[in-house]
Amino acid sequence: MAKVELQITRRKFLQATAAGGAFALAGPGVGALQAAAAAPTLGPTWFREGEIKKSYSCCSMCPWSCGIIASTVNGRVYKVDGNPADPKSRGMLCGRGQGLVSFAYDPDRLQAPMVRTGERGEGKFQEVTWEEALDQSAEKLMAIADQYGPESIAVFGHTAGDFWFVDYFAQAWGTPNAAKPSASICTSPREEAATLTYGSGVGGHEPMDWEGLQCLTLIGSHIGEDARNTVMQDFANARARGMKVIVADPRFSQVAAKADYWLPVKPGTDTALLLAWINVFITEQRYDVEYVAEWTTGFDKLKAHVADMTPEWAAEITDVPAELIRETARVMADNLPRAAIMPGRHVTWYGNDTQRMRAIYIVNALLGAYGREGGIYFNKSPYIESYPHPPFTITGTSGGCSAEPGAESATLPEGPTGKVRADGGRTRFMRGATAMQELIEPMISGEPYPIKGLIVYGVNLLNSVPDTERTKEALRNLDFVLAIDVLPQEHVAWADMVMPEATSLERYDDLWTLPHKTPYIALREPAIEPMYETKPGWWIARELGLRMGLEKYFQWETIEEYLDARLMSIGSSIEKLREEDGVIVQKGKPYFEDYGDSSPFATPSGKIELYSEELALAGFDGVPAYEAVEEPPDGYFRLLYGRHPVHTFAKTQNTPLLNELNPENDLWLNAGMAEEMGIKNGDRVMVENQDGIVSGPIVVKATQRIRPDAVFMSHGFGQADARLTNADGKGASDAKLISRYAMDPICGGAGLRVNFVKLVKEA
Ligand code: SF4
Repeated sequence: MAKVELQITRRKFLQATAAGGAFALAGPGVGALQAAAAAPTLGPTWFREGEIKKSYSCCSMCPWSCGIIASTVNGRVYKVDGNPADPKSRGMLCGRGQGLVSFAYDPDRLQAPMVRTGERGEGKFQEVTWEEALDQSAEKLMAIADQYGPESIAVFGHTAGDFWFVDYFAQAWGTPNAAKPSASICTSPREEAATLTYGSGVGGHEPMDWEGLQCLTLIGSHIGEDARNTVMQDFANARARGMKVIVADPRFSQVAAKADYWLPVKPGTDTALLLAWINVFITEQRYDVEYVAEWTTGFDKLKAHVADMTPEWAAEITDVPAELIRETARVMADNLPRAAIMPGRHVTWYGNDTQRMRAIYIVNALLGAYGREGGIYFNKSPYIESYPHPPFTITGTSGGCSAEPGAESATLPEGPTGKVRADGGRTRFMRGATAMQELIEPMISGEPYPIKGLIVYGVNLLNSVPDTERTKEALRNLDFVLAIDVLPQEHVAWADMVMPEATSLERYDDLWTLPHKTPYIALREPAIEPMYETKPGWWIARELGLRMGLEKYFQWETIEEYLDARLMSIGSSIEKLREEDGVIVQKGKPYFEDYGDSSPFATPSGKIELYSEELALAGFDGVPAYEAVEEPPDGYFRLLYGRHPVHTFAKTQNTPLLNELNPENDLWLNAGMAEEMGIKNGDRVMVENQDGIVSGPIVVKATQRIRPDAVFMSHGFGQADARLTNADGKGASDAKLISRYAMDPICGGAGLRVNFVKLVKEA
């Protein structure tokens, strides 16, 4: 019965998306494809020859973590479906989620712990037992800490199980040098700007109140290419009922093709566009006057600041016609407060990103969107206690806001006692915190103090951190590198010890607890036993911790004991959670009326700060100013990058089913420029950046859908490791072409769109 319901739900999803525009989604029969890929030696009806068992978890193919129900037959996963009880998946999955089974059964997976036998980078290893791997790793890490202190060990983590290493192990061990790329090369500007402007971070689920939204504006957000399941559902439904859509983007993206207005803004000039919109709202009195009077501070300073920033002024800078700027501002204003700009996710672009994000939030405030139905609701975290462990000496989580302003300022967090994590919470200008890419420097120079050991969990290090050559230099320099991963990603060849992790279908993870309109808690339980010699991340972190003197933090014997201890705080248990379809939904406080007389804005003034005294006191602009960015030199294009809907970061390119759907990326090049250069659609070219780094070959897509001053490729391709049999050598790597970045002095994020490339026809 459950199976039939799930199939109907999926069909409804396909109908809904068809109504709103056809994004790339897995087609019918995906379950059968998964079964074939998962069990190529079994007959076509193998999954009917046993009892179907169901388990509850969250999809780990991207950080969105949609709730899933995994079906297994005779200890083999037969398919995954969206969990209808889960607020994110609502019974549906995106194409990447449908590839989860294929990811788990990828024959290229790491299968046993290994110790390095060749040079770093050669990828020569010998298998060892888990006892040997754990004992040797603990011994090496402890020796480094004895000589240089606990902070000399850095921990990088990403994806579903990173909590056990970056959040739990690192903070128990006492190193502040723990970081996630999701902060420093992705969301840190939007989180810092949100905290400065309205007193809280955006959170993992962007709080657009889709049900009533009447006008959505996107600046560099690519719904449909960035295939987050719930957002695609919400967008499709809202568009189908007539929501207006405005897209500002140098590229006519998939979502721009479904918009009412496309503004082909010149890269790097978005803040000028935003300031001109603000100018129109104010000069034409088209903002929410009552809301601004009651809930904001600094309006007069903002008004004076934008007085001359007319659409005509912005048109010169942005290449967007003044009339189009004026018209789109009016469309937004005509729909207030049910109009808003979506915060976006990867927003580390040019190094002045916190101020651009502040300008976005100021637009939303003038539209009266925060806390209003159809605008932007207030996220609320679900209530549940942490596992009762002794206090950590390091605090803060990436994107969180736990540190107090006014703490010390240093190039790096200084040491273990009472310090805040490198990429945690309030950032650089508040206390000199350090982003992930900056932790590379002390690995090379030893300044201001040495980092000599590195634990890398699930971060595709050479395909994410800017300046790959510098990262390799750091890896050469370290005393010990431990890589924990599912696949032999490129950086794994540089590790001294490799520990193979079980996939999310084979392991428990900590509960998924998400700030949301309806805050909720989801179970992440295994569907099958770990394959090969792999182990779950929680087990690896605990075993390492026990060997490194951290017994007091790892007092649970089993993961069930850990989870039940947490669930007990809300009167639940794993068993009860299973009975509730794997999800507990709590009540949110999404709108103003839920706050009574108190303010929902946790800023010093208790209001939305259009002018930031905090920034002004620290020597920055109190209201966002437009700053020109460097232009591409003659013969070069600005390198833009983004997503393909069936791939996540540099994680899924090797997954057999997803690789089949999209094996390599292509290079969007303006058709006029292509003609001028004698390059035809379908030609293969090499791409060379300003520092002489070359990547490719890559197929050219000559199109009118991109401005002449930029090229675009999807991220995650051009990987180089023969053990990745599907991904090796396919396409070009944007990550390797990003050899420089612009540091945002406010949030510490690394702006990545400051690289320029020229094209060289393949011989
Ligand atoms: S958006 Fe897609 S890949 Fe991401 S968690 Fe949801 S189903 Fe999985």
